[in-house]
Amino acid sequence: MDSATTLALALEDGFEAHALTVRYGQRHGIEVERAQELAVALGARSHRVVDVDLRAFGGSALTDDRVPVPAARARDERHGIPATYVPARNTLLLALALAWAETLGARELHLGANAVDYSGYPDCRPEFLEAFERVANLGTRAGRFHVRAPLMCLSKADIVREAVRLGVDLGRTVSCYDPGPTGAGCGMCEACALRAEGFREAGLPDPAG
Ligand code: ZN
Repeated sequence: MDSATTLALALEDGFEAHALTVRYGQRHGIEVERAQELAVALGARSHRVVDVDLRAFGGSALTDDRVPVPAARARDERHGIPATYVPARNTLLLALALAWAETLGARELHLGANAVDYSGYPDCRPEFLEAFERVANLGTRAGRFHVRAPLMCLSKADIVREAVRLGVDLGRTVSCYDPGPTGAGCGMCEACALRAEGFREAGLPDPAG
């Protein structure tokens, strides 16, 4: 939902968008298929899927079958970094996006990171993204990159409203950390809980069911 909305915002702002999805060994391979579908539907100029298998390291409920996906916590209990944190995931995703952007001659990296209703992931903090922008500008031939996270300060309800305004087909988005083969959410994990809260607060039904 966040990635699709970020893409729709970039397109609304007039950017020619090249969408990157990383198959990093996540349990939820369905999100890769849906990302492809949504990128085409929204009008990305191109879409690439890159494989970097983080199951080689494990260390997360999303990349290691021996680590169960934890059940959602109540809103006031959401502190500490949960087992669904994937070590250095956004550093890796941004590094890949940066490599592709430099190749394309693009200067803008947009990602759906969000610091409001997120689960405490350190690589969703604004300070991290500012630091990565410095890395991008020090570590490339091209330089002059901007890292943008337009959803950073939005609540999940705000993101639902933006997605609806932009015509994102939310019924095709997948949020669950451990969805079924058709993309249906488990209804138990933190991602499902945050999504349900977002739709409830926005006063809208979730078209994904
Ligand atoms: Zn779930």
